[in-house]
Amino acid sequence: MTNDNSQEENKIKNALTPEQYKIAREEGTERAFTSPLNNEKRNGEYHCVVCDTVLWSSTHKYDSGSGWPSFYQPAFDDVISTEQDFKLAMPRVEVKCAKCGSHMGHVFEDGPPPTGLRYCINGSVLKFVPEE
Ligand SMILES: [Zn+2]
Repeated sequence: MTNDNSQEENKIKNALTPEQYKIAREEGTERAFTSPLNNEKRNGEYHCVVCDTVLWSSTHKYDSGSGWPSFYQPAFDDVISTEQDFKLAMPRVEVKCAKCGSHMGHVFEDGPPPTGLRYCINGSVLKFVPEE
């Protein structure tokens, strides 16, 4: 099955830009304030750039001032998964697409009500689809 997995991975690699691949599959982070989606204020949905699942909604987006698109909750239950990330001295909680496992960003506990959470997401691995 290893062979199937690497073929699948190659398909993903070919479909993404090197920057997107680095973030989605190697847990990279885009530079702050570089994503055009940071200032996106239109109504719409944010899809996973790898598997096209709707992960986030403009309804839950807010301006955190962090330089990355920020949401206080996912669009639906179960569309994202979280995992402890010990790469830095201070442990963080990694946010992934539940369907394809791609890295999206991190979640912090300094967000606005009603959740108090700040999902800090790389705009490069999102595809914005504006509402018609
Ligand atoms: Zn995905």
